[in-house]
Amino acid sequence: MTRVYLALGSNLADPLHQVDAALAALDALPATQRIATSAFYRTPPYGPPDQPGYLNAAVALETQLTPGSLLDHTQRIELEHGRVRKAERWGPRTLDIDVMLFGAAVINTERLIVPHYDLLNRAFMLLPLLDIAPEATLPDGRALRSILATLDTSSIRLWHT
Ligand code: ATP
Ligand code: CA
Ligand code: CA
Ligand code: CA
Repeated sequence: MTRVYLALGSNLADPLHQVDAALAALDALPATQRIATSAFYRTPPYGPPDQPGYLNAAVALETQLTPGSLLDHTQRIELEHGRVRKAERWGPRTLDIDVMLFGAAVINTERLIVPHYDLLNRAFMLLPLLDIAPEATLPDGRALRSILATLDTSSIRLWHT
């Protein structure tokens, strides 16, 4: 079994509904259990500013799937939830599922970069992750808590206020 941390994001078509549906779909994955789910956060849009704010959350899984198989499943779940791939990077989307950490694996393939390539710069990923894994470390042993401490979290709110 490998402990995996996923980042969920949505800023279209009722984000709360999208994320609830994503959690149900993750619960249906073979050879996988959902161990923990963070609070839901509201964060300003990343990239183009002319779009709604995001709901961001983190999920911990224990899985026997390979990284590639897990990515197949998360991309299928994104598509099943109406995601349309658009030309604009970081544009609005109904559901985004990123692999932040896959155990202590370091992966650099065409399809998958793990740890997520921008994790260390994204408070909206690290804050929910540290909710459910305060002791989480990078494969090189660095504590994620000490990295989050260097980032600005002032614009992140709870989704339910
Ligand atoms: P960002 O990756 O900057 O958060 P994004 O999530 O909007 O942007 P996508 O369009 O969802 O980017 O994904 C682009 C590609 O990234 C996917 O086709 C996937 O193969 C690849 N990818 C590489 N590493 C990962 C990862 N750790 N988790 C999910 N997808 C990844
Ligand atoms: Ca399951
Ligand atoms: Ca993303
Ligand atoms: Ca993505």
